[in-house]
Amino acid sequence: MPEASRPYNFSAGPATLPEPVLRRAAQEMLDWHGSGMGVMEMSHRGREFVSIAEAAEADLRHLLGVPAQFRILFMQGGGLAENAIVPMNLSRGGQVDAVVTGAWSQKSAREARRYADVQVAASNEADGHTTLPTAAGWRLRKGAAYVHVCSNETIHGVEFHQLPDLSALGCDAPLVVDCSSHVLSRPMDWSRVGLAFAGAQKNIGPAGLTLVFVREDLLGHALPICPSAFDYRTVADNGSMFNTPPTYAIYIAGLVFQWIAAEGGVTALEARNIAKARLLYDAIDGSGGFYANRVAVDCRSRMNVPFFLHDERLNEPFLARARERGLLQLKGHKSVGGMRASIYNAMPLHGVQALVDHLRDFARSHG
Ligand SMILES: *Cc1c(COP(=O)(O)O)cnc(C)c1O
Repeated sequence: MPEASRPYNFSAGPATLPEPVLRRAAQEMLDWHGSGMGVMEMSHRGREFVSIAEAAEADLRHLLGVPAQFRILFMQGGGLAENAIVPMNLSRGGQVDAVVTGAWSQKSAREARRYADVQVAASNEADGHTTLPTAAGWRLRKGAAYVHVCSNETIHGVEFHQLPDLSALGCDAPLVVDCSSHVLSRPMDWSRVGLAFAGAQKNIGPAGLTLVFVREDLLGHALPICPSAFDYRTVADNGSMFNTPPTYAIYIAGLVFQWIAAEGGVTALEARNIAKARLLYDAIDGSGGFYANRVAVDCRSRMNVPFFLHDERLNEPFLARARERGLLQLKGHKSVGGMRASIYNAMPLHGVQALVDHLRDFARSHG
Protein backbone atom coordinates (compact mmCIF):
# COMPACT_ATOMS: atom_id res chain seq x y z
CA MET A 1 0.00 0.00 0.00
CA PRO A 2 1.37 3.43 -0.90
CA GLU A 3 2.17 5.72 1.99
CA ALA A 4 -0.41 8.51 2.23
CA SER A 5 1.19 11.90 1.79
CA ARG A 6 -1.94 13.84 2.72
CA PRO A 7 -4.90 13.24 5.04
CA TYR A 8 -7.92 11.47 3.59
CA ASN A 9 -10.72 13.88 2.80
CA PHE A 10 -14.29 12.56 2.97
CA SER A 11 -16.01 15.83 1.98
CA ALA A 12 -19.26 15.51 0.03
CA GLY A 13 -18.21 18.33 -2.26
CA PRO A 14 -16.15 20.13 -3.27
CA ALA A 15 -14.31 16.91 -2.68
CA THR A 16 -10.98 15.17 -2.80
CA LEU A 17 -9.19 14.97 -6.15
CA PRO A 18 -6.65 12.38 -7.32
CA GLU A 19 -3.26 13.41 -6.01
CA PRO A 20 -1.48 12.82 -9.36
CA VAL A 21 -3.90 15.31 -10.95
CA LEU A 22 -3.11 17.97 -8.35
CA ARG A 23 0.63 17.38 -8.74
CA ARG A 24 0.43 17.63 -12.52
CA ALA A 25 -1.64 20.84 -12.30
CA ALA A 26 0.94 22.29 -9.89
CA GLN A 27 3.75 21.47 -12.32
CA GLU A 28 1.89 23.11 -15.18
CA MET A 29 0.64 26.12 -13.21
CA LEU A 30 3.13 28.64 -14.59
CA ASP A 31 3.72 27.21 -18.04
CA TRP A 32 1.41 24.77 -19.80
CA HIS A 33 3.35 22.58 -22.25
CA GLY A 34 5.90 25.24 -23.12
CA SER A 35 3.26 27.76 -24.15
CA GLY A 36 4.62 30.35 -21.72
CA MET A 37 1.15 30.64 -20.15
CA GLY A 38 -0.73 29.04 -17.32
CA VAL A 39 -4.10 27.55 -18.31
CA MET A 40 -5.99 30.24 -16.35
CA GLU A 41 -4.32 32.92 -18.46
CA MET A 42 -5.18 31.54 -21.89
CA SER A 43 -7.85 32.76 -24.26
CA HIS A 44 -10.61 30.19 -24.41
CA ARG A 45 -10.51 30.56 -28.20
CA GLY A 46 -6.75 30.14 -28.58
CA ARG A 47 -5.40 26.89 -30.01
CA GLU A 48 -3.88 25.81 -26.67
CA PHE A 49 -7.10 25.92 -24.69
CA VAL A 50 -9.20 24.63 -27.58
CA SER A 51 -6.94 21.56 -27.66
CA ILE A 52 -7.45 21.10 -23.88
CA ALA A 53 -11.25 21.36 -24.16
CA GLU A 54 -11.45 19.07 -27.19
CA ALA A 55 -9.34 16.40 -25.52
CA ALA A 56 -11.42 16.63 -22.33
CA GLU A 57 -14.66 16.17 -24.23
CA ALA A 58 -13.33 13.31 -26.36
CA ASP A 59 -11.89 11.52 -23.32
CA LEU A 60 -15.16 11.92 -21.42
CA ARG A 61 -17.17 10.62 -24.37
CA HIS A 62 -14.89 7.61 -24.58
CA LEU A 63 -14.87 6.88 -20.83
CA LEU A 64 -18.66 6.86 -20.55
CA GLY A 65 -19.38 5.47 -24.03
CA VAL A 66 -21.56 8.48 -24.81
CA PRO A 67 -23.40 7.78 -28.10
CA ALA A 68 -23.05 10.14 -31.07
CA GLN A 69 -26.64 11.41 -30.77
CA PHE A 70 -25.79 12.98 -27.40
CA ARG A 71 -24.12 16.37 -27.17
CA ILE A 72 -21.79 17.03 -24.25
CA LEU A 73 -22.03 20.59 -22.91
CA PHE A 74 -19.65 22.30 -20.50
CA MET A 75 -21.84 24.75 -18.61
CA GLN A 76 -21.86 26.81 -15.40
CA GLY A 77 -24.30 27.26 -12.55
CA GLY A 78 -24.05 23.83 -10.95
CA GLY A 79 -26.81 21.35 -10.27
CA LEU A 80 -29.08 23.97 -8.78
CA ALA A 81 -29.00 26.09 -11.93
CA GLU A 82 -29.80 22.96 -13.96
CA ASN A 83 -32.91 22.58 -11.83
CA ALA A 84 -34.16 25.68 -13.67
CA ILE A 85 -32.29 25.26 -16.94
CA VAL A 86 -33.74 21.79 -17.58
CA PRO A 87 -37.41 22.84 -17.29
CA MET A 88 -36.71 26.02 -19.26
CA ASN A 89 -35.31 23.88 -22.08
CA LEU A 90 -37.40 20.72 -21.95
CA SER A 91 -40.77 21.36 -20.33
CA ARG A 92 -42.29 23.59 -23.07
CA GLY A 93 -44.27 24.98 -20.15
CA GLY A 94 -46.21 21.72 -19.86
CA GLN A 95 -46.10 18.74 -17.52
CA VAL A 96 -43.11 17.35 -15.65
CA ASP A 97 -43.16 14.19 -13.52
CA ALA A 98 -40.69 14.15 -10.66
CA VAL A 99 -39.51 11.26 -8.51
CA VAL A 100 -38.58 12.47 -5.03
CA THR A 101 -35.99 10.34 -3.26
CA GLY A 102 -34.09 12.83 -1.11
CA ALA A 103 -33.09 16.44 -0.66
CA TRP A 104 -31.75 16.96 -4.17
CA SER A 105 -34.67 15.60 -6.16
CA GLN A 106 -36.96 17.54 -3.83
CA LYS A 107 -35.16 20.76 -4.69
CA SER A 108 -35.35 19.92 -8.39
CA ALA A 109 -39.12 19.41 -8.23
CA ARG A 110 -39.61 22.64 -6.30
CA GLU A 111 -37.60 24.71 -8.76
CA ALA A 112 -39.26 23.15 -11.82
CA ARG A 113 -42.65 24.34 -10.46
CA ARG A 114 -41.64 27.87 -11.45
CA TYR A 115 -41.70 26.81 -15.12
CA ALA A 116 -43.95 23.80 -15.45
CA ASP A 117 -46.83 21.78 -14.03
CA VAL A 118 -44.90 19.41 -11.77
CA GLN A 119 -46.38 16.25 -10.31
CA VAL A 120 -44.57 14.07 -7.79
CA ALA A 121 -44.74 10.65 -9.47
CA ALA A 122 -43.37 8.81 -6.45
CA SER A 123 -41.72 9.69 -3.15
CA ASN A 124 -39.85 7.99 -0.35
CA GLU A 125 -40.45 10.85 2.07
CA ALA A 126 -42.64 8.72 4.33
CA ASP A 127 -39.68 6.50 5.27
CA GLY A 128 -37.22 9.37 5.65
CA HIS A 129 -35.60 8.79 2.23
CA THR A 130 -34.19 5.39 3.12
CA THR A 131 -35.66 3.30 0.29
CA LEU A 132 -36.36 3.80 -3.42
CA PRO A 133 -39.88 3.62 -4.85
CA THR A 134 -40.07 0.82 -7.46
CA ALA A 135 -40.50 2.24 -10.94
CA ALA A 136 -43.49 -0.01 -11.71
CA GLY A 137 -45.51 2.00 -9.15
CA TRP A 138 -44.64 5.49 -10.40
CA ARG A 139 -47.61 7.64 -11.44
CA LEU A 140 -46.45 8.81 -14.86
CA ARG A 141 -48.60 11.08 -16.99
CA LYS A 142 -49.00 10.48 -20.72
CA GLY A 143 -48.33 14.10 -21.57
CA ALA A 144 -45.25 14.67 -19.43
CA ALA A 145 -42.39 16.44 -21.20
CA TYR A 146 -39.86 14.52 -19.07
CA VAL A 147 -39.40 12.51 -15.90
CA HIS A 148 -36.80 13.71 -13.40
CA VAL A 149 -34.78 11.48 -11.07
CA CYS A 150 -31.69 12.02 -8.95
CA SER A 151 -29.73 8.80 -9.42
CA ASN A 152 -27.58 9.32 -6.31
CA GLU A 153 -28.88 11.35 -3.39
CA THR A 154 -25.74 12.90 -1.94
CA ILE A 155 -27.32 13.90 1.39
CA HIS A 156 -29.51 10.88 2.14
CA GLY A 157 -27.17 8.27 0.63
CA VAL A 158 -29.61 6.39 -1.60
CA GLU A 159 -28.58 5.33 -5.11
CA PHE A 160 -30.41 3.85 -8.05
CA HIS A 161 -28.17 0.92 -8.93
CA GLN A 162 -30.03 0.75 -12.24
CA LEU A 163 -31.74 3.56 -14.06
CA PRO A 164 -35.47 3.02 -14.61
CA ASP A 165 -36.49 1.82 -18.07
CA LEU A 166 -39.34 4.25 -18.79
CA SER A 167 -40.22 2.72 -22.17
CA ALA A 168 -40.80 -0.66 -20.46
CA LEU A 169 -43.34 1.20 -18.28
CA GLY A 170 -45.16 2.45 -21.37
CA CYS A 171 -43.78 5.96 -20.94
CA ASP A 172 -42.08 7.62 -23.89
CA ALA A 173 -41.02 10.78 -22.06
CA PRO A 174 -37.27 11.30 -21.80
CA LEU A 175 -35.62 10.55 -18.46
CA VAL A 176 -33.67 13.43 -16.92
CA VAL A 177 -30.99 12.28 -14.51
CA ASP A 178 -29.18 14.37 -11.92
CA CYS A 179 -26.05 12.25 -11.55
CA SER A 180 -23.93 14.98 -9.93
CA SER A 181 -22.54 12.84 -7.14
CA HIS A 182 -21.82 9.54 -8.89
CA VAL A 183 -21.13 10.34 -12.54
CA LEU A 184 -18.10 8.31 -13.73
CA SER A 185 -18.33 5.99 -10.71
CA ARG A 186 -20.00 3.34 -12.89
CA PRO A 187 -21.04 2.91 -16.53
CA MET A 188 -24.14 4.75 -17.76
CA ASP A 189 -27.01 3.10 -19.67
CA TRP A 190 -27.60 5.79 -22.29
CA SER A 191 -30.52 3.89 -23.84
CA ARG A 192 -32.56 4.91 -20.79
CA VAL A 193 -31.50 8.57 -20.71
CA GLY A 194 -32.69 11.73 -22.45
CA LEU A 195 -30.56 14.17 -20.51
CA ALA A 196 -28.10 13.83 -17.66
CA PHE A 197 -26.36 16.58 -15.76
CA ALA A 198 -23.65 16.70 -13.13
CA GLY A 199 -21.97 19.47 -11.20
CA ALA A 200 -18.24 18.78 -11.34
CA GLN A 201 -17.31 19.29 -7.70
CA LYS A 202 -18.22 15.83 -6.43
CA ASN A 203 -16.61 13.30 -8.73
CA ILE A 204 -15.01 15.29 -11.55
CA GLY A 205 -13.09 18.39 -10.59
CA PRO A 206 -13.41 21.93 -9.25
CA ALA A 207 -16.72 23.67 -8.64
CA GLY A 208 -17.90 25.99 -11.40
CA LEU A 209 -18.24 23.43 -14.19
CA THR A 210 -21.45 21.54 -14.94
CA LEU A 211 -21.57 18.70 -17.44
CA VAL A 212 -24.73 18.24 -19.49
CA PHE A 213 -25.29 15.23 -21.74
CA VAL A 214 -28.30 15.91 -23.92
CA ARG A 215 -29.90 13.93 -26.73
CA GLU A 216 -29.92 15.92 -29.98
CA ASP A 217 -33.72 15.81 -30.37
CA LEU A 218 -34.19 17.63 -27.05
CA LEU A 219 -32.33 20.72 -28.27
CA GLY A 220 -34.16 23.72 -29.63
CA HIS A 221 -37.28 23.79 -27.46
CA ALA A 222 -36.30 26.41 -24.87
CA LEU A 223 -38.94 28.74 -23.44
CA PRO A 224 -38.61 32.35 -24.64
CA ILE A 225 -37.63 33.43 -21.11
CA CYS A 226 -34.60 31.11 -21.14
CA PRO A 227 -31.34 33.12 -21.07
CA SER A 228 -29.33 32.56 -24.24
CA ALA A 229 -26.34 31.33 -22.25
CA PHE A 230 -28.55 28.59 -20.79
CA ASP A 231 -30.30 27.56 -24.00
CA TYR A 232 -28.88 24.11 -24.75
CA ARG A 233 -29.23 24.72 -28.51
CA THR A 234 -27.11 27.89 -28.28
CA VAL A 235 -24.54 26.24 -26.04
CA ALA A 236 -24.32 23.19 -28.31
CA ASP A 237 -24.10 25.24 -31.52
CA ASN A 238 -21.23 27.21 -30.04
CA GLY A 239 -19.23 24.23 -28.80
CA SER A 240 -19.82 25.29 -25.17
CA MET A 241 -18.13 28.62 -25.95
CA PHE A 242 -21.12 30.91 -26.37
CA ASN A 243 -19.73 32.67 -23.34
CA THR A 244 -16.38 32.09 -21.64
CA PRO A 245 -16.48 28.60 -20.18
CA PRO A 246 -14.88 27.78 -16.80
CA THR A 247 -11.55 27.13 -18.44
CA TYR A 248 -9.48 26.04 -15.47
CA ALA A 249 -12.19 23.70 -14.21
CA ILE A 250 -12.39 22.11 -17.67
CA TYR A 251 -8.62 21.63 -17.67
CA ILE A 252 -8.65 19.91 -14.26
CA ALA A 253 -11.63 17.78 -15.30
CA GLY A 254 -9.62 16.76 -18.38
CA LEU A 255 -6.73 15.66 -16.17
CA VAL A 256 -9.18 13.66 -14.04
CA PHE A 257 -10.49 11.95 -17.19
CA GLN A 258 -6.92 11.00 -18.12
CA TRP A 259 -6.39 9.69 -14.60
CA ILE A 260 -9.55 7.55 -14.82
CA ALA A 261 -8.37 6.08 -18.13
CA ALA A 262 -4.98 5.28 -16.58
CA GLU A 263 -6.72 3.56 -13.65
CA GLY A 264 -8.46 1.22 -16.10
CA GLY A 265 -11.58 3.20 -16.97
CA VAL A 266 -15.02 3.41 -15.46
CA THR A 267 -15.63 -0.33 -15.06
CA ALA A 268 -12.37 -0.71 -13.13
CA LEU A 269 -13.37 2.20 -10.91
CA GLU A 270 -16.82 0.69 -10.42
CA ALA A 271 -15.26 -2.53 -9.13
CA ARG A 272 -13.08 -0.52 -6.76
CA ASN A 273 -16.06 1.58 -5.64
CA ILE A 274 -18.05 -1.58 -4.88
CA ALA A 275 -15.17 -2.92 -2.79
CA LYS A 276 -14.80 0.40 -0.92
CA ALA A 277 -18.52 0.64 -0.18
CA ARG A 278 -18.69 -2.98 0.99
CA LEU A 279 -15.75 -2.47 3.34
CA LEU A 280 -17.37 0.56 4.96
CA TYR A 281 -20.96 -0.73 5.17
CA ASP A 282 -19.71 -4.05 6.58
CA ALA A 283 -17.84 -2.18 9.31
CA ILE A 284 -20.95 -0.15 10.18
CA ASP A 285 -23.31 -3.12 10.09
CA GLY A 286 -20.86 -5.29 12.02
CA SER A 287 -20.35 -2.80 14.85
CA GLY A 288 -22.98 -4.36 17.09
CA GLY A 289 -25.12 -1.22 16.92
CA PHE A 290 -22.34 1.22 17.83
CA TYR A 291 -22.77 2.71 14.32
CA ALA A 292 -25.82 2.53 12.07
CA ASN A 293 -26.74 3.33 8.48
CA ARG A 294 -30.52 3.50 8.03
CA VAL A 295 -30.77 3.07 4.26
CA ALA A 296 -32.27 -0.17 2.87
CA VAL A 297 -29.37 -2.41 1.87
CA ASP A 298 -30.18 -2.57 -1.86
CA CYS A 299 -30.56 1.23 -2.11
CA ARG A 300 -27.33 2.22 -0.41
CA SER A 301 -25.09 4.69 -2.15
CA ARG A 302 -21.59 3.61 -3.08
CA MET A 303 -20.47 7.23 -2.95
CA ASN A 304 -22.12 8.87 0.10
CA VAL A 305 -22.41 6.88 3.30
CA PRO A 306 -24.33 8.60 6.10
CA PHE A 307 -24.03 6.93 9.50
CA PHE A 308 -24.88 7.58 13.12
CA LEU A 309 -23.19 6.83 16.40
CA HIS A 310 -25.53 5.13 18.89
CA ASP A 311 -24.69 7.88 21.36
CA GLU A 312 -24.83 11.37 19.83
CA ARG A 313 -22.67 12.72 22.67
CA LEU A 314 -19.76 10.85 21.09
CA ASN A 315 -20.04 12.75 17.80
CA GLU A 316 -17.53 15.47 18.66
CA PRO A 317 -14.92 13.09 20.16
CA PHE A 318 -15.36 10.83 17.10
CA LEU A 319 -14.66 13.72 14.74
CA ALA A 320 -11.78 15.05 16.81
CA ARG A 321 -10.05 11.66 16.93
CA ALA A 322 -10.70 11.24 13.19
CA ARG A 323 -8.97 14.54 12.46
CA GLU A 324 -5.99 13.47 14.58
CA ARG A 325 -5.75 10.36 12.43
CA GLY A 326 -5.86 12.38 9.20
CA LEU A 327 -9.50 11.67 8.36
CA LEU A 328 -11.16 14.93 7.39
CA GLN A 329 -14.70 16.30 6.83
CA LEU A 330 -16.75 13.41 8.20
CA LYS A 331 -19.46 15.51 9.81
CA GLY A 332 -22.91 14.71 8.41
CA HIS A 333 -25.12 17.14 6.52
CA LYS A 334 -26.96 19.46 8.90
CA SER A 335 -30.37 18.23 7.74
CA VAL A 336 -29.55 14.59 8.55
CA GLY A 337 -27.02 14.86 11.38
CA GLY A 338 -24.53 12.18 12.39
CA MET A 339 -21.64 11.45 10.06
CA ARG A 340 -21.21 11.14 6.33
CA ALA A 341 -18.28 9.62 4.49
CA SER A 342 -18.14 10.50 0.81
CA ILE A 343 -15.97 7.95 -0.94
CA TYR A 344 -15.83 9.20 -4.51
CA ASN A 345 -13.61 7.86 -7.29
CA ALA A 346 -10.58 9.73 -5.96
CA MET A 347 -10.82 8.11 -2.50
CA PRO A 348 -8.48 5.11 -2.53
CA LEU A 349 -9.35 1.80 -0.89
CA HIS A 350 -6.68 2.41 1.75
CA GLY A 351 -8.44 5.66 2.67
CA VAL A 352 -11.60 3.71 3.39
CA GLN A 353 -9.52 1.14 5.27
CA ALA A 354 -8.10 3.94 7.42
CA LEU A 355 -11.65 5.09 8.20
CA VAL A 356 -12.74 1.55 9.03
CA ASP A 357 -9.75 1.22 11.40
CA HIS A 358 -10.90 4.40 13.12
CA LEU A 359 -14.48 3.11 13.41
CA ARG A 360 -13.21 -0.08 15.05
CA ASP A 361 -10.72 1.60 17.41
CA PHE A 362 -13.16 4.31 18.48
CA ALA A 363 -15.91 1.78 19.19
CA ARG A 364 -13.46 -0.33 21.19
CA SER A 365 -12.37 2.56 23.37
CA HIS A 366 -15.89 3.92 23.92
CA GLY A 367 -18.01 0.75 23.82
C1 LIG B 1 -24.18 18.92 -5.04
C2 LIG B 1 -25.38 18.51 -5.79
C3 LIG B 1 -26.18 19.44 -6.49
C4 LIG B 1 -25.97 20.95 -6.41
O1 LIG B 1 -24.84 21.41 -6.97
P1 LIG B 1 -24.51 22.98 -6.94
O2 LIG B 1 -23.28 23.01 -7.76
O3 LIG B 1 -24.31 23.39 -5.53
O4 LIG B 1 -25.63 23.70 -7.57
C5 LIG B 1 -27.26 18.98 -7.19
N1 LIG B 1 -27.57 17.66 -7.21
C6 LIG B 1 -26.83 16.75 -6.55
C7 LIG B 1 -27.23 15.31 -6.60
C8 LIG B 1 -25.73 17.14 -5.82
O5 LIG B 1 -25.01 16.24 -5.14
